[in-house]
Amino acid sequence: MLKPSQFKQSSKAVVEWIDHYLNQVGEYPVKSQLEPGQVYRQIPPKAPDKGEEMDLILEDLDRIIIPGITHWQHPNFHAYFPANNSVESVLGEFITSAIGAQCMIWETSPAAAELEQRMMEWLRDAMALPSQFEGVIQDSASSASLTALLTAREVSTNFRSNDEGVPANLRVYCSRETHSSIEKGLGICGVGRNNLVKIPVDGQMAMQVPALRAAIKSDLAAGKKPMAVVACIGTTGTLAVDPLEEIARVCREHRIWLHVDAAYAGSALLLPEYAWMAKGMEHADSLVFNPHKWMFTNFDCSVYFIRQADLLIRTFEILPEYLKTSTRGRVNDYRDWGVPLGRRFRALKLWLVLRSFGLEGLRKKLRNHIELTLSFALALEAHPDIEIIHKAFLNFVGFRLHPKGIDNEEQLNRLNASFLDLINKRGKLFLSHTKTDGAMLIRVVIGQTYVEKADVDRSLKEILDVAKLITESC
Ligand code: PLP
Repeated sequence: MLKPSQFKQSSKAVVEWIDHYLNQVGEYPVKSQLEPGQVYRQIPPKAPDKGEEMDLILEDLDRIIIPGITHWQHPNFHAYFPANNSVESVLGEFITSAIGAQCMIWETSPAAAELEQRMMEWLRDAMALPSQFEGVIQDSASSASLTALLTAREVSTNFRSNDEGVPANLRVYCSRETHSSIEKGLGICGVGRNNLVKIPVDGQMAMQVPALRAAIKSDLAAGKKPMAVVACIGTTGTLAVDPLEEIARVCREHRIWLHVDAAYAGSALLLPEYAWMAKGMEHADSLVFNPHKWMFTNFDCSVYFIRQADLLIRTFEILPEYLKTSTRGRVNDYRDWGVPLGRRFRALKLWLVLRSFGLEGLRKKLRNHIELTLSFALALEAHPDIEIIHKAFLNFVGFRLHPKGIDNEEQLNRLNASFLDLINKRGKLFLSHTKTDGAMLIRVVIGQTYVEKADVDRSLKEILDVAKLITESC
């Protein structure tokens, strides 16, 4: 067991390890190549009775753990969505864990509460969000959206369902491309997954507002109560942007809570040229976006904004004797702003990132990723066997392998499944897929903090090499 006096000495090896990792992460296979159980079997079934040497533990980190890591910070990680970090955020986590504060209320660390309040204002203003919005950091977008659904539920039942239970007639609407966290949240908050109405989308995968109107109308006629609409700025599958302004109009007409899920693409609101995506935001009730996706702040750090924080607090507030304080009402006690009582000091890493990058630095990085994606997509498109299914937008492009003469959709899906499988098995890059209208497409996301043109060129070459192998074997 180490003592604080041994920290400096023993941290040297860890700092060296981190330094090596951050600088050499591009040397690992991007996706872990292990089979299920391979890590588990190497870890002894019982905890050691006697403490072990740190050197030995670090050796096992390299021997047992690292081969089982999929390297999200690898410059050729292009799967799912970014979950990037930065030197600044790693340093921030280091300090946060040393301080080890549990920031449930203002009194348990005034600086944590006040820094969080200020960071939320910095981000709100930098993203040109409505000035009434107040923010709080949550662990994930799933939790933030659950928080929004719970608040909407209370508002639409006159703050009775927390005490009396949930009426059976509440309804929530989102496009069929919306993230599964909304469906999950509706199960958790008692509204019921069957009360989620999935609205059809147009060719751009964005919500069809006439269909939303029709669904609300038919629900009202059937005695149902529309509780919330969830609009997306950047769906997970294809980064589709719902027409917020039109959706907001419908919500205003029917007095329905409007929650905006901008978990992934929200970072782009830092760029004035993408402000159009937020048109209508002045009528939204809440919004989530994740700096832990595409804003260089390592997981977890999800930002939740709300127009009327008093509604949020009224939904979550519960006051056992031991948490009563004399400062109550004059400060932000963030335990009342979400589900958990205990909270990490997440604002610190955000502070380091925002100060060290500066808004200009953040914008430059985001624009660089967008440009890299555009030129990558253009090069991909030039290949005769590649079909672009979703044009490059922000840092995403969707494509499939489509060799001449193969036009059967089932066959194309099977071909693309083998294509993707082979790319990922070779370990040089990592891609994921989705399906739109039954067609499998391969998603490429370029969002690792330190990715450069040479990395993207390597990914392109590997994709085209594998495409050749697959088409030759057809
Ligand atoms: N919403 C969108 C649009 C997403 O892309 C994701 C991530 O996959 C989520 C919500 C869920 O994010 P989290 O992992 O922070 O709960």
